[in-house]
Amino acid sequence: MKIYTFLQQNDGKPNRNSLEALAAAQQLAEQTGGSVSAIVFGSNIETITDYDLAEIIQLQNVELENFNPLAYVSAFENLINAENPDMVVFGHTYETRDWVPRLSARLDIPFLTDCIGFKNEDEFVFTRQINQGKINSDVKTTGLTIISIQSGAFRLDSLKSGSASTREFTVDLSGISQSIRKGEKFQEAKGSVDLSRAEVIIAVGRGIGKEENMDVIKELAKALNAEIGSSRPVVDYGWLPHEHQVGSSGQTVSPKLYFAIGISGAIQHQVGMKSSDNIIALNKDENAPIFEIADFGVVADLFEIIPKLTEKINSLS
Ligand SMILES: Cc1cc2nc3c(=O)[nH]c(=O)nc-3n(C[C@H](O)[C@H](O)[C@H](O)COP(=O)(O)OP(=O)(O)OC[C@H]3O[C@@H](n4cnc5c(N)ncnc54)[C@H](O)[C@@H]3O)c2cc1C
Repeated sequence: MKIYTFLQQNDGKPNRNSLEALAAAQQLAEQTGGSVSAIVFGSNIETITDYDLAEIIQLQNVELENFNPLAYVSAFENLINAENPDMVVFGHTYETRDWVPRLSARLDIPFLTDCIGFKNEDEFVFTRQINQGKINSDVKTTGLTIISIQSGAFRLDSLKSGSASTREFTVDLSGISQSIRKGEKFQEAKGSVDLSRAEVIIAVGRGIGKEENMDVIKELAKALNAEIGSSRPVVDYGWLPHEHQVGSSGQTVSPKLYFAIGISGAIQHQVGMKSSDNIIALNKDENAPIFEIADFGVVADLFEIIPKLTEKINSLS
């Protein structure tokens, strides 16, 4: 099986969700004895030559240097029509959501969006979540299909390293009429808190009860020199600004340690943090879904445990 996967670049580096999609593509190839080629726009490829790839295909055209949905669609249309891959895999990024449906319509091929896994049962079966993550639905596909992979569904540490040759594919985009007026580039996370770089995150959920209790969390974060993350209700109540929110409508994080306190572990929260190296969950409900993905779980009342933990940490430093 010939699999193409697009590596979206931000500031010259491959976007994290695109690398997770590459991990998915490598696993698809492994199961079929197939090959994975990475598609990039432009010539900046130093950061991706160390992955196990059949080749890196550089789509060259000045129109592809900055986000340009109409040019992106035409470039991929040219490539796919010329080279007939069996599957094209994307990370489910904001940019993917913008232009890849148009590519699917242009080529009249299916687009299975936001997939969280796959099974190889004679035909490929991809798993997607529906009804706000409460139900998993399996979708069979045959023939050329576009797939996008949900953020956090495949782990970066499963990426296989190796080497790759490079090849240029020149596209003629002179016939495109630019009917889209560009605005300022969308920032997925604005503000002073960049949780994506944090090594330790203390994340707080609705279990904290009220804003006045937030000091319990802030003191622990201070003791551990950690950033504070949160679930959505904490932001909705106005106890923390939105830049602290982790999850499908917040930031995606992968710290060395993610300490989830009073967070139930809804799927929309999990997609933003489940690829953390170590997850500790503290919840008074032993059936909370967060325990399914936690490496260490503590079933307890946070108000009994956290102040004592902070005191102990402070006494050690
Ligand atoms: C389109 C959409 C997008 C969304 N995006 C996001 C998102 O980006 N991020 C996000 O987080 N959510 C998001 N959500 C909301 C998500 O579905 C959940 O509602 C939310 O994650 C729940 O937050 P929580 O775990 O803090 O609250 P709850 O689900 O209410 O859980 C609170 C937990 O605290 C525990 N608890 C209570 N008191 C204590 C105590 N004293 N000690 C210890 N534990 C205690 C309880 O047992 C419970 O498990 C989204 C929802 C939708 C529909």
